[in-house]
Amino acid sequence: MSNLNLHTPIEYVKGIGLEKANLLKKQLKLSTCEDLLNYFPFRYIDKSRIYTVDQVGNSSAEIQLRGKITSIQEISQNKKKRLVGIFEDTTGTLELVWFNVTDWLIKSIPLYEEVLIFGKVTSFNGKLNMAHPEIEKLSEVKSALAALEPVYSNSEKLQKRGINQRFFKKVIREVLHCLEDQIEENLSQEIISDYKLVSRKKAYQEIHFPSHYQKLQQAEYRLKFEEMFFFQLGFGLQKIYRQNTTPGHPFFKVGDNFNEFYTRHLPFPLTNAQRKVIKEIRKDLRKNIQMNRLLQGDVGSGKTVVALLCMLLAIDNGFQASMMAPTEILAAQHFNSIREFLKDMDISVRLLTGSTPVSERKIIYEELEQGSLHILVGTHAVLEEKVKFKNLGLAVIDEQHRFGVEQRSRIWKKNLVPPHILVMTATPIPRTLAMSYYSDLDVSVIDELPAGRKEIKTFHKTDANRLAVFGFLRNEIKKGRQAYIVYPLIEESETLYYKDLMDGYESITREFPMPEYQVSIVHGRMKSADKDFEIQRFNSNQTQIMVATTVIEVGINIPNASVMVIESAEKFGLSQLHQLRGRVGRGAEQSYCILMTRSELSNEAQKRISTMCETNDGFRISEVDLELRGPGNILGTQQSGIVDFKKTDLVHDKIIVSLSKSGVDRLLSEDPQLQSEKNKPIKKFFISHHKNKFHWAKIS
Ligand code: ADP
Ligand code: MG
Repeated sequence: MSNLNLHTPIEYVKGIGLEKANLLKKQLKLSTCEDLLNYFPFRYIDKSRIYTVDQVGNSSAEIQLRGKITSIQEISQNKKKRLVGIFEDTTGTLELVWFNVTDWLIKSIPLYEEVLIFGKVTSFNGKLNMAHPEIEKLSEVKSALAALEPVYSNSEKLQKRGINQRFFKKVIREVLHCLEDQIEENLSQEIISDYKLVSRKKAYQEIHFPSHYQKLQQAEYRLKFEEMFFFQLGFGLQKIYRQNTTPGHPFFKVGDNFNEFYTRHLPFPLTNAQRKVIKEIRKDLRKNIQMNRLLQGDVGSGKTVVALLCMLLAIDNGFQASMMAPTEILAAQHFNSIREFLKDMDISVRLLTGSTPVSERKIIYEELEQGSLHILVGTHAVLEEKVKFKNLGLAVIDEQHRFGVEQRSRIWKKNLVPPHILVMTATPIPRTLAMSYYSDLDVSVIDELPAGRKEIKTFHKTDANRLAVFGFLRNEIKKGRQAYIVYPLIEESETLYYKDLMDGYESITREFPMPEYQVSIVHGRMKSADKDFEIQRFNSNQTQIMVATTVIEVGINIPNASVMVIESAEKFGLSQLHQLRGRVGRGAEQSYCILMTRSELSNEAQKRISTMCETNDGFRISEVDLELRGPGNILGTQQSGIVDFKKTDLVHDKIIVSLSKSGVDRLLSEDPQLQSEKNKPIKKFFISHHKNKFHWAKIS
């Protein structure tokens, strides 16, 4: 009998030895038996049986199906060719795709003949497909059916030292055999039966050595569920801990300022969605618990005025409020719109950014400490040590993506009792991401745009259409409208982008000569006073065209501008395109967005452009963005580690993410301290595996 346990170093496993153990440690970070068990195969080869189309779904396994290929068709997109075939069996159809099309390939595909096809099935946008399948005519099949084989990821270096697939199978089989009974259940029986999960022990066996395709799917489901469950449980416990230990400032009063603004100065009726969200926030603010809320809403949905009303609540209750934005331009824009909203009220508002002169800073610091300054709008400058509030009650943070978790926590320290926090996003975050990464925040959504907005019409054009585009611009300007022309900021080569921009500016001034036309330019190399001056000129309609880089991406609010031309649009990401487009469509006029690209596009760029042309819905766009780029890229490198899951794929496993989230929510509402007997396994596992990731989640 073996005396291994989960923590035993792998050199003690039969067949590994010290030398290989060291290699595995160094190359794959596998040190203990438990690590080895958690080293899951990254794919499987299944020739053990023949599946039918109605049995397949997403899984890492490569499987075979029997049927006929009933059509093949070449599809060209921007000079890239793809071959798409339809495979049929008695239960349904499946799309086959090849990306390198050659005559040989086309000739080699047998049509209307019984075949076995073999490969990995994935579903994209709800459609099943198999890329680059292997095809064998049934009449020529010789191989006998083999078993479902795990394939572990490995390197050439390891292979040379004898660590090959056979080695992995052997040692993992050994560890599984010895430790089978030590793989303890870490979920409650209730959750296991409610969510129809297989046992943990079973899952480990099947994930390494699947006996059957369905069993493998069940094992994958179980392990993904468990992975997301504990991840979200960590956030959930953190939230409960915070609520129990961090008092908030209760805002009991809806006082004079709120009421006066609401009844006398609000320039438009709020949308139902805005009203709903304000209600949610007010409910939070009345409690004796610090609020941490994420406010999601599409570009132009009117988040600013919601934030302002909340800040007025803070002031009504004797507190100060602050609002932070990631760039100077955006901070200035917020400052101006808030001042405009409050122009007939007796509330003091100031702006603090990196370029605020020292003399003015001194005044701001003083007024803040005295409490005579009610609202401070600013950039990261607000976070500096020197900035001390008398009693900060609410901090609004715009554009969450660019503020890390760490910065969020710095604002907490601005007051003895931490202020309520309202985070606003620039563009909607896909639901799966919000559910995982932002689990520690409550979420409010403004899912409606103010009435009377016209859908922005979006078109894709290339250089060949340039004259027509200019003609269109002239026409719009003749009607009194204004236009943006935006150039990408290429980070690798600032000089290059600068040249593109300047060339562009020159050609625009040639096409649109003075004195008939006035053209503004704004870019990152300008002093902020000069930028402000140009934005001001455009804002007051002294210039009709604004040539700019992405500095205008966020916040700029000029309702008379109705055309957005984006040059080299293929170089922008989806959320950036959506943000840029959001600069128009703010007035009553029909607005247009023209995406200029070169004529050849990569598949991915093509998908971005066509998505933009098809929809104005930021939530839909964020989902496509997630599919194209993956979660790490959306959250930014700083925070990508946190969504790097071992099994779960936030793009394809959306349903599992929501199921496990609902499981966690239910668990924590019934047993927030995990004290009941039935939840013991959950608590034990959390403490041994996850506690240190959430350093202040005090659970014992
Ligand atoms: P975002 O959510 O993108 O930050 P803003 O707060 O900048 O949007 O609002 C966009 C524009 O819509 C602003 O000009 C704002 O004054 C206006 N707005 C906000 N709410 C309403 C409303 N309920 N009715 C009409 N216009 C509104
Ligand atoms: Mg905004």
